[in-house]
Amino acid sequence: MRKQSEPVEVVCPHCKYTGIVYLPEEELPKCPKCGRQMVISELLDEGKSY
Ligand SMILES: [Zn+2]
Repeated sequence: MRKQSEPVEVVCPHCKYTGIVYLPEEELPKCPKCGRQMVISELLDEGKSY
């Protein structure tokens, strides 16, 4: 198993501000606008498929 960091899109569930973090190296950030915990946007968008 590789342990390279992967860029993932995170989104603020409150104001929809989005950003990119590298997991698992970085932790999920807090929204710079409203200070709430941001979440991985893929988890919000389960309809998306390849
Ligand atoms: Zn926010």
